[in-house]
Amino acid sequence: MWRLTKNILPTRANLHKKGISLDLQCPLCHHEVETTNHLFLHCDLMKLTLFASHLGSHMPLQVDLFDWILSWLTCHDTLGTQLFCTILWKFWAARNNVVFRGDKLEPVCLVDEAMSFVQEFNDANPPRRGRASLPLITVTPPVSRPSFSVFVDAGCNLNGPTVWGLVLKNHDRITTFSACKCDDIAVDPIMAEALGVRWAIQFVREQGLHSVCIFSDAENVVNCIANKVKIDAIEMVAQDCRELLSSLPNVSVLFVRRDQNIDAHNLASLARLVGNQTWVGAAPNASVMSNYAENSATNCIVFGCFPAFC
Ligand SMILES: [Zn+2]
Repeated sequence: MWRLTKNILPTRANLHKKGISLDLQCPLCHHEVETTNHLFLHCDLMKLTLFASHLGSHMPLQVDLFDWILSWLTCHDTLGTQLFCTILWKFWAARNNVVFRGDKLEPVCLVDEAMSFVQEFNDANPPRRGRASLPLITVTPPVSRPSFSVFVDAGCNLNGPTVWGLVLKNHDRITTFSACKCDDIAVDPIMAEALGVRWAIQFVREQGLHSVCIFSDAENVVNCIANKVKIDAIEMVAQDCRELLSSLPNVSVLFVRRDQNIDAHNLASLARLVGNQTWVGAAPNASVMSNYAENSATNCIVFGCFPAFC
């Protein structure tokens, strides 16, 4: 982290500044010159890595790399800070493995490694006063308790497909409906999330639900729909969302941290295995689903279907 913030990591651009002649392209995405800024802020592989993590962290737009790092180092969410720093460190190490060993950088594996590392570190260093053992919950509380909560999340790959998960909970926080969806399109993470929120709003409308909080862990998207920030890339979808919301009484879209959005996140992953599916209540657990994935070519499992999706 120290070398990163001093901008003295031997990226290709920094080596070039020292008079070494070499291919300057980013070895991960091959789209731009490999500067520190590109690698840790703009590279698609970095975006996918953070997107795959539990930080709920979508790349901020037009932010200075060092301001962004500083905001993570001073955010009072100890676990978040640990994970953020570990991901950056592992990302650099993985980049080196790409360059020197010809390995492939796998965002999901990298994030798993970072999580395990943080967990192992914290297990070996029990919490002292001031060290948070669990991330803080930062759900924005609705004005009055909603009758329903809809949690939605998206997942994407560079070359598609794009996947989404949606969970409906009643006022007792019981899951009454789950859905996952898979589309053979390749979009940016932020667009995937925006489309997910629109899907959730459409779902609420089709089901005629009132008093609903829709939760997304994409803070940028939530702020864009609320007109707090302007994001050209998703403006059209955000506009759709605003129009849909204006026709729905007492429905709001709120930010939730990724660790509070695990059910929808897992459902989005499940969509890669099972495609479009719906369940009354919670989706079957992971072991059932892995069986399903293994046998899906030959077996047919009947899932409960919500009327609107049949
Ligand atoms: Zn790159």
